[in-house]
Amino acid sequence: MRFSDIPGLQEEKKRLISFFKSGKIHHALLFFGKEGSGNLPLALAFATYLNCDKKIENDSCGDCPSCNMMQKLIHPDLHLIFPVASSPKITKEVVSDKFLESWRISFTENPYMNINDWFEICGIENKKPNISKEEAKNIIKKLSLKPFQSKQKINLIWLPEYMHNSTANALLKIFEEPPGDTLFFLVSNNYQKLLKTIISRVQMFKVNNFEPVDIKKYLGKYDDSSEQEIDSAIFLSDSSINAAEKILLNSEDDNLSFLKDWLRNCYSENFLEINKKMEWFNNLSKMSKRAFLHYSLKLMREALVSKIETSLVKVSAEEEKFINNFKKTLDKDSLADIILLFDMSISNLDGNANPKILFLNLSIKLSNFFQTIKT
Ligand SMILES: [Zn+2]
Repeated sequence: MRFSDIPGLQEEKKRLISFFKSGKIHHALLFFGKEGSGNLPLALAFATYLNCDKKIENDSCGDCPSCNMMQKLIHPDLHLIFPVASSPKITKEVVSDKFLESWRISFTENPYMNINDWFEICGIENKKPNISKEEAKNIIKKLSLKPFQSKQKINLIWLPEYMHNSTANALLKIFEEPPGDTLFFLVSNNYQKLLKTIISRVQMFKVNNFEPVDIKKYLGKYDDSSEQEIDSAIFLSDSSINAAEKILLNSEDDNLSFLKDWLRNCYSENFLEINKKMEWFNNLSKMSKRAFLHYSLKLMREALVSKIETSLVKVSAEEEKFINNFKKTLDKDSLADIILLFDMSISNLDGNANPKILFLNLSIKLSNFFQTIKT
């Protein structure tokens, strides 16, 4: 990962390079930014830059042996630590090292991944993510090793907010005074969850949200998507490159026909059909579940907006037909309530709610809405 692989974030890149040039790199940097921001790729690009033997003006060379190893995430002086959970294969000493190969694949596929994407790739999606005390022991053990290739060893802890308190406490002393050849990069989407004693020992480094123009540049690789589709995905993504990509990749045709059917079932209180749909929803990958809810939310929002003013997002002719019918059925307040309902369901899904219960709950509430307008 090089700085030039990440769209935008010019200020952040400049600041990191200036840390290096001034020789003042804090031994523990906390890269914080929201989910779908570039904090993880940025931390890795900085690590690549620091280790590069032939730095160019404002980036690593991308070509030297060190850059090559960093690109494959196999550099011997880069230690990756991230949340894991026990799997059928790994039940004892559940530490990052045992999941490294999967993490490399996951990051290479999607450098903007979140915890759910990572757990899904790993096949442990219903487990509670954790950075355990054994992990702290592992880190401390590695500190005694001399760097193999570089001047320094870099320990990158992705999502330290999942550190168990005992892990965090075991690492406190090291964050304060690590051996001279060791750097810690903490990459957090929710640093407020970290112990205050950790925060006081690190240097905060804010990674801003992506600008729409940056996300557009990134999504430019999907040349079979129209500009309208891309703009719409960005509009719905809440500045997350990860969300924008998922919304874009999701097949919207299937979602529309499912949504129409489902709402019809809710309207007629057909719980036999709703039950079948609940199974369908449950069998979707987490990414597709989220994409379906996002898509539904997009159409509901459009229905509300088009009741008030001209539409903001371009929609297909089929979608427009649906929106027009839907907005005729419900008044502004009901639409606003339904939007809130979908919004909450997406948060609950991200918070690992049971998908069946979530879907059934949503169906019952929608059904109740329709019954009140029928009477
Ligand atoms: Zn290089």
